[in-house]
Amino acid sequence: MLIGAHVSQAGGLANAIARGTERGCDAIQIFNQSPRMWRPTAYSEEDFAAFRQAMDHSRVDAVLIHAVYLLNCASEDTEIRDKSRVSLIHSLRVGEAIGAHGVVLHPGSAKTGDVPKAIKRAGEVIAEALAESERCELHLENTAGAGGTLGRSFEELGALLESAGGGPRLRLCLDSCHVFASGYDIRTPEALGETLDECDRIVGLDRLHSLHVNDSMTALGSNRDRHSLLGEGQLGERGCATFLSEPRFDPLPCVLETGRDHGAPAAEDVALAFKLRKRGNASRARASRTKLSPAEGARRKR
Ligand SMILES: [Zn+2]
Ligand SMILES: [Zn+2]
Repeated sequence: MLIGAHVSQAGGLANAIARGTERGCDAIQIFNQSPRMWRPTAYSEEDFAAFRQAMDHSRVDAVLIHAVYLLNCASEDTEIRDKSRVSLIHSLRVGEAIGAHGVVLHPGSAKTGDVPKAIKRAGEVIAEALAESERCELHLENTAGAGGTLGRSFEELGALLESAGGGPRLRLCLDSCHVFASGYDIRTPEALGETLDECDRIVGLDRLHSLHVNDSMTALGSNRDRHSLLGEGQLGERGCATFLSEPRFDPLPCVLETGRDHGAPAAEDVALAFKLRKRGNASRARASRTKLSPAEGARRKR
């Protein structure tokens, strides 16, 4: 697992690598433009080259781009859908230029409207954006299910992938807070295992290409998107350790989005994620030893 954090790219794209390095990140996530404005940031070839060079000389092995929150590919308003498409194309092209692992996108919101129709609209916009770009993957992020947000269940994510054409560049990003808030228990290795089996049956785990690790301030099935510091929410240290040590997540980048640096992840938050992963691995190893040989397990306990 490539553990890391969402970092700012203020002052220039390459600065994101420096911030990731300072925080001990093996993976980073950035916005490709100011998250509160539609206007895309104009980058030059030099910006991209500087970013790639900085990344080559750092421990950062994967970069995710998070599309900005203004986007709503499912909007009933054609102007919003047009703006969302243009912005998404920009994200994917920046992703191509910097060799990003993928662009993470919240699939959109039906607001109070019809969900199947919203999925169809979102699928069309996403398919168009993919057609206007060449290589970069697009990772649809599962959502907590607040309001009319799309992607609250594996069924909905499957329908969105299909509606967007189901091509090989379409992938999934799983957020630990969102999956828990949307009603899937992931607090123990057994519960997480069952949730992933369900994901595999409905969407296919081969689609899963990135992870967000956030603790949840609110309860299982609360449908609220409220992150808390790792270990301090409803997942707790054990739940977060379980998520971070899941063997099927091993090859994936996994970034924190919340922490002690004015709400953003700081070095100590990333260090805690590494520590919890270690703890989760140790506890899984203990459990499997006990399972293989009860006598051996009992002897060790004495
Ligand atoms: Zn997230
Ligand atoms: Zn969230």
